[in-house]
Amino acid sequence: ILEAMLVPMHAGSHKVTVTPSIGVCHSPEHGHTPLALMRHADTAMVVAKRERLGCCAFDAKMYRDIRERLTLESDLARALRADELEVHYQPRMACADDHVVSFEALVRWRHPERGLLPPNEFVGLAEESGMIAELGDQVMCKAMHQQSLWARAGFRVGVSINVSPKQFAAQKLSSSVRENIAQSRCDPRMIELEITESALFDDAESVLETLGGIRRLGMRIAIDDFGTGYSNLARLGTYPLDALKIDRAFVADTTQATLLEAIISMGHALGLELVAEGVETLEQASRMRERGCQEMQGFLYSRPLSAV
Ligand code: C2E
Ligand code: MG
Ligand code: MG
Repeated sequence: ILEAMLVPMHAGSHKVTVTPSIGVCHSPEHGHTPLALMRHADTAMVVAKRERLGCCAFDAKMYRDIRERLTLESDLARALRADELEVHYQPRMACADDHVVSFEALVRWRHPERGLLPPNEFVGLAEESGMIAELGDQVMCKAMHQQSLWARAGFRVGVSINVSPKQFAAQKLSSSVRENIAQSRCDPRMIELEITESALFDDAESVLETLGGIRRLGMRIAIDDFGTGYSNLARLGTYPLDALKIDRAFVADTTQATLLEAIISMGHALGLELVAEGVETLEQASRMRERGCQEMQGFLYSRPLSAV
């Protein structure tokens, strides 16, 4: 079938080539009903497509992965209802005098059986299964309340909140932001949203509108993990941004010095605040400071910690 499909077809004056992906499963090993067989063949097809295999047979591992994913997915839906998410905070320091400027809010899942789970084990799943808006809203609610508590206790510190690209593109973001500000009575000028470069890929007009809306509420905007995505640099200059968080890959790897310098001078040219992420050693800290970063975050200062 693959070979037959690879022969180019003619559609009017165009030559069209199709690259098929085929998923295979067997009966009775992989199921008895047409529905089960189609579903498993479809899973194998998705793997064939993702890994560019052309053709792929269903196997026990795929079955386990699906089961695990489904379990985790229903667990996460329950966790959102049962308030099992926690927010931990990591300080961001000013290079000039080492005072704490703000804290980054980082989500954790207090799983009843599996313990404290880091975001890379469930944020992707939340994005794929449509739960990211709810997850993001809960994190925002907790983080804004915490900022408000700190402010009332006399600490002038900001809070940065991560916003996933899906969440950024959703209509719901601005209403969720507004509601959470009102409920928590936090000062929006002390709140920063961190978005990644890929969130800015959408059409420039709608990105600009979302960014403008955030700014009008008084909040700051930072680009997270800068240097790992593929930013459209011409566009970047037209967006209302406040800070660039330089990905920790550039902080850790001294062989990337030329790129790091380019990133830093670009940040300066755009008038953005530069934050070094993942600073682990004094040597890295002084290098980033000398190169002109204004702020730093990393295990050298503190790991993310719960607020209480
Ligand atoms: P991020 O926003 O770039 O956050 C920084 C990550 O680097 C955190 O991992 C932090 O613990 C880790 N880190 C900080 N300093 C150091 C260091 O010195 N060395 C090393 N090796 N790592 C350091 P964490 O908490 O596991 O979060 C991972 C990612 O998950 C975050 O990367 C962010 O993209 C995402 N994330 C976290 N919380 C949320 C959230 O509430 N919503 C969304 N959408 N994504 C989140
Ligand atoms: Mg971040
Ligand atoms: Mg980052």
